[in-house]
Amino acid sequence: MSTRYSSMNSKRSVSLHEIALERWWPTLPTPVLALLELEQDPFYSFLDERKVSDIIDEALYYGKQQAKKMEVSRSPTQIINQVIHSGIRIRFPPKETQQNHTIRAQYRTTPPTIDVYRHSLQELLHFFQKTGFKVPQEEIITLHVVHEWFHHMESSHWGRTDLKLPKVSVPLWGPIYKHRPLKRLREIAAHSFTQEIMELPWSPLLLDHLLLLIQHGQSKQQIRDHFTHLNVKYQMLLSPKK
Ligand SMILES: [Zn+2]
Repeated sequence: MSTRYSSMNSKRSVSLHEIALERWWPTLPTPVLALLELEQDPFYSFLDERKVSDIIDEALYYGKQQAKKMEVSRSPTQIINQVIHSGIRIRFPPKETQQNHTIRAQYRTTPPTIDVYRHSLQELLHFFQKTGFKVPQEEIITLHVVHEWFHHMESSHWGRTDLKLPKVSVPLWGPIYKHRPLKRLREIAAHSFTQEIMELPWSPLLLDHLLLLIQHGQSKQQIRDHFTHLNVKYQMLLSPKK
């Protein structure tokens, strides 16, 4: 009985940046995770394959650079305070209030509001608990808030990331083409921003993939095999072009 209690107590509270996920779960390189995100863009098929690697690097770099400008410490309390002091409301709506249940958090412009969905907090807390870590809830909240903070900064100060990065030419009719931005680049940059601010050793995009595969009942080995397959599939596309 006493052993049991002491082993429960030994599960000390750890910050996200201290967790080396690759020791517990299969991982993917950040550019591959970013490419999986970019592929979801409705205009991805119009992107020249030779430009994929560079555009992903640019989006990742942009998010990282913007994070450096924020001059904020990694401390969740400080980050949350800074966000609130900049005039953003943070709310925690339950799942029922959300139309799309796969969304973890959301930014609304008027008035500036970040909604962090409770089901997502629970899912992540549970995931880390299962992995063997007791992560403070405020760390998980901050992970969501920082991502949406990026979108707030885009809409209030910086302008949309996808409009700053190269666009794709989409044929309208005959010889007429129109330039279209790749909206998913905003997500890639937001994740890179979050990783940099929270000093995470892994991309937050990795969590989305792991959680989705776990939700679909995949074993660790099946996830590893799937990731190996993706890595091989995208290696060519992401290797530097001569
Ligand atoms: Zn986003």
